[in-house]
Parts: sequence; structure tokens; C-alpha cells
Amino acid sequence: MASDMLAVMKTERAEGATVTRAPIPRIESPLDVLIKIKACSICGTDKHIYSWDEWSQGRIKTPMIFGHECGGVIAEVGSLVTRVKVGDHVSLETHIPCGHCPQCLTGKQHICHNLEIVGVDRDGIFAEYVVVPESVCWQNDKNLPHEIASIQEPFGNAMYTVAESNVGGRQVCIIGDGPIAAFAVGIARAFGAAPVIAVGKHDVRIDILKKMGADYTISIQREDVVQSVMDKTHGYGVDVVLEMTGQEVAIEWGLKIVKKGGTFTAFGIPAGVPRIDLSGGVVFKGANIIGINGRKMFDTWFQVANILNSGRVDPSPVITHKFPLKDFEAAMQATFTPTRDCGKVVLTVD
Ligand SMILES: [Zn+2]
Ligand SMILES: [Zn+2]
Repeated sequence: MASDMLAVMKTERAEGATVTRAPIPRIESPLDVLIKIKACSICGTDKHIYSWDEWSQGRIKTPMIFGHECGGVIAEVGSLVTRVKVGDHVSLETHIPCGHCPQCLTGKQHICHNLEIVGVDRDGIFAEYVVVPESVCWQNDKNLPHEIASIQEPFGNAMYTVAESNVGGRQVCIIGDGPIAAFAVGIARAFGAAPVIAVGKHDVRIDILKKMGADYTISIQREDVVQSVMDKTHGYGVDVVLEMTGQEVAIEWGLKIVKKGGTFTAFGIPAGVPRIDLSGGVVFKGANIIGINGRKMFDTWFQVANILNSGRVDPSPVITHKFPLKDFEAAMQATFTPTRDCGKVVLTVD
């Protein structure tokens, strides 16, 4: 095996990234595995790191390889690894739990007190190889294409958001038009939500929301969101709101359109501290608020596999662009155009 590999690194504490050669990582613990990456996908977190915003400046230590969503094949295993073997197709739960904090000891590894994130706190997967602990490997069906395998991590965010929100037979409004919101539309429909109302901003993405099965779409550029949802629900609002943008105005809409006794599920991450109408939007409504972080380990992954392998949800309309890893810069430009005329952008790795 060669000693170095193609990798996308954050070398400077400034905007941008470098496509370069880096040493192939080595297994350090007997519980580690080496994965040959086959496909990876670009996420909003990668954009934060690329553009070197305030959050990245405080969190990222350079030089590092970033990226966290991937599909690959096990190339080597540590001496104590038992659950996976060389040749297995895997994706990664990107949140590495510590295994000994109160959350980890009570089946809540996804909100581990000492969470370490692949491609944020340690080297990530925009490379030909990565080393991770066996504990975060998720075995894929060998028939699952690597590019679909790579989007299971964000698909899992959508799955966890929908699964926690009791959407079966209920009116659901999903706010957001990014890939995770689009996956949530398909999943909510598969879970029996009716109708699924999807709120978006960018036309190309609203089209994707339609392809994923939204019964109604609302464009925030052309419509009054609150009025429009109220019109579709006889003035009562929806049973469930899935807020997937983190924008203050979207949270405000969400708390207005959730029906009394309904559920507001928060997945989007606000940039600052949003003002919310706790009395009118939550207390007097007797509404539930649920917070979603990551994916349940591994409940969510089983659900993702069942739904994808059965074909109940076809995620392919969300994947709009493919680039080889070496063209990372072009892929970033395609992902973050001002008009967001793309869905998920996937990178393939030779
Ligand atoms: Zn991600
Ligand atoms: Zn822990």
C-alpha cells in the first residue's frame, strides 16, 4: 500500500481548504479500523470549517482533514476488533461517544458528555483513508451504492427528527429546504404524516421537496408562511412542526403554526440566541418541544437501513451533483451558490 493519500485539509487558519497529499493514517488502538473511503458528501458543518467562521476558529485545530459523511470499505482492523472485518462496507456514526459518562451508561451515547466528532475534533473523511474506532462503524448492505451510504448520516438526522415526533396520521409542517429537510419530507410521508407541508426558500430546492413527496410546498419568497399553513389547516395549525433551519424567523413561524397540544421539534441550530414567544407559542398552547442532536446509536441507523433497503424512501432526488474528491473546490462552489441551486453534493474517491 502507498504511504500517502489524497486529502482535503484545513492547513491555514483562514478561509479555504487545500487539496493535497497526506500520510495514510495508522491504526493506533487495537479497537481501531482503517477505512478506504469510496464516497463522501458535503455538509453545512464543512462549510463552517471551510469559511472559517467564529465557531470553527474556536473549535478546529489545524492542520486537519475535515469531512464526516462517508461510505467506504474496511481495509484493516485492530487486533481486538470483532464486529467488523476487512472487506465490510461501512458508514460512520460521526459522533464518537466516550462510553463512560452518565449519558453513555444510560443508552444515550448520541448526547455523550465528552462527544468527539469526526472531521471536527479529529481527522475526517475527505481523504482516501480514515482511522476510527470500531464502535462508530455501521455495516452497510453490500448492494447499497457507496454514494447512498455516504448520505445515511444526514438521512439519519432526518430519521431521528421524524421518528421522535409522532407524525403518523398527523399534519406535519417541515421548515427548511436543505438536504436534511428534504429527507425528512420523504421519511415523514413514509411514516404516514398527512399532509406534509414543506416550507422552503430556494426554487431548485422547493422542487426537490416536491419530488420527495411534499403534499404542499410554501415559498417564503412568495407566500405568507403562517397564513398559508393556517389556511390549509382550517385555522388550527399543524400537529407537528419540524424546524430544520435554526433561523429566528422560522422558529417564530413554527411556534405560531403549531396547533395547541402539538409538537415543535427543533433540529436547526440558531447562530445566536433567538427570541421565542414561550407564553403564546408553548405554555398556553400546552405544546411539546423536542431537541434533536445527531442520531440514536444505533436505533436510528437500523431505521435508516430498513427504510432505504426497502425502497420506502428514495433519497436520490436529493443528490444533485457528483464530483471526484480532487475537485473539492468545484464541489464546494456548487454546494454553496447564493441561490442554493443544488441538493446534496457527493464526492467520489478512487
Ligand atoms: Zn453532516
Ligand atoms: Zn459519554
